Amino acid sequence: MNSKNKHEAQIISTYSRRMLVRTDRNELFPAKIEGKLLKPVCGDIVEIEKKHNEPDFIITKILPRKNSLVRKNKYENKEILASNLSEIVVVIGNPPSPDWFLIDRYIGSAEKMQIDASIICNKSDLNWIDDSIRSNLAVYSKIGYKIIECSTTQDKNLAEIKDYLSKKTTILVGQSGVGKSSIINSLSEYSNLKTQSISLAKKEGKHTTVNSNLIDLPNDGYVIDSPGVRDYLPDFNHENEASISFKEIHNFGLDCKYNDCMHIKEQECVVKFAVSEGKINERRYESYKRLVNKIKSSENKKNY
Ligand code: GDP
Ligand code: ZN
Repeated sequence: MNSKNKHEAQIISTYSRRMLVRTDRNELFPAKIEGKLLKPVCGDIVEIEKKHNEPDFIITKILPRKNSLVRKNKYENKEILASNLSEIVVVIGNPPSPDWFLIDRYIGSAEKMQIDASIICNKSDLNWIDDSIRSNLAVYSKIGYKIIECSTTQDKNLAEIKDYLSKKTTILVGQSGVGKSSIINSLSEYSNLKTQSISLAKKEGKHTTVNSNLIDLPNDGYVIDSPGVRDYLPDFNHENEASISFKEIHNFGLDCKYNDCMHIKEQECVVKFAVSEGKINERRYESYKRLVNKIKSSENKKNY
């Protein structure tokens, strides 16, 4: 709290220009944005102020973001979806069959943001997690990513997920149909925020734009839910973002002869040697090369 009328608060829900904020005293208030330039998103820490004759708090300032999840919208403009995250959780569940290149890119965006990543394997009741899937997953756990198997229909490991998400601000990403909404719905049963944000949506009127919510779980866990976040496709713009995205490639690459080694055509490349020795998983390396090519071809498109 800065002065009598000014407080620090976090954005919990957004509905068009109306927001729900939580102060550091854990009180929830509706708030509006001052001016047209401020664009707070879920997770933002903001300054709110009570002004005379105004029933709601006014959001006057967004404090610097630790990180932000960005996507390109349909007009190719960058749009911030959420901020101050601590982890990206990639959800898979067959159907649809896992797209490992997409999984690698999701994990890569967490690496780019310098936050943790993990994988939830949903629909375990359908017995799709066989030996070949497990050996793929073992590659990720060896690198250091947590893997949790669960089933929302059989209530398997949902409590473990809730515990795992304690003390973190997380988003769930993944292909459509893997069960992200189902997981969020089961987790939000632990949350008491639902009714409050629904009443806020009603105030804003019927024609509200897409909303997003920070769902609070017990033990200071938060899951950000919004269609924009769930549909989010990772976006990479520079070739050097590819090696940052693959932690093991990045780590081996630190010993490469050339600082700017791309680990593809160069001789005496430590990464290529590690691949040949099986220290770097071949499929992950193929995925890395595919990402480099993808970035290169989109750069070429920009030039012409
Ligand atoms: P989203 O698109 O990732 O948000 O996926 P949804 O949560 O909408 O789920 C897609 C479909 O998968 C729905 O028909 C769900 O009922 C189903 N589903 C979700 N979780 C499970 C699960 O654990 N087991 C099975 N068998 N089906 C599930
Ligand atoms: Zn190299």
